[in-house]
Amino acid sequence: MIKADVHVHSKFSPDSKTEVIFHIEKAIEQRAHSICITDHYDIIYLYKKNDAKEKYKREIDILIGVEVGLLSQFKKQINEFLNRYEFDFIIGSSHFVGNIEPYQSIFWENRSEKEALRNYFESILENVKIFKNYDVYGHLDYYVPF
Ligand SMILES: [Zn+2]
Repeated sequence: MIKADVHVHSKFSPDSKTEVIFHIEKAIEQRAHSICITDHYDIIYLYKKNDAKEKYKREIDILIGVEVGLLSQFKKQINEFLNRYEFDFIIGSSHFVGNIEPYQSIFWENRSEKEALRNYFESILENVKIFKNYDVYGHLDYYVPF
């Protein structure tokens, strides 16, 4: 018998706080053959917020924005996503350098601080050259642990 779980939500869904790694380890423990992480993607949330936009228009301007993690290897997918919606405001951010979050200690291992910072800012420069459809660049100090 092949055991698989193909309906799993992680902390990236509004109805779950579970880490992806927890689901994976649980599936391995249960000797599952495969697991599919199926986080929510409900476009209606964007439109529901637009109801609020109308309801509160006399009190406040409600804008719909997004912070998108810019990564050159996902240029096509990121641009398709950003072009699909009419966001009022887009923050382009660097949350990863390669596949490492720069505030993690592993990013700083086996090289000087100067080299690590150079790597970090060069990846931002690469994003600035590649991506054109954001309004501001987010938190340039994302390498600082919070
Ligand atoms: Zn961010």
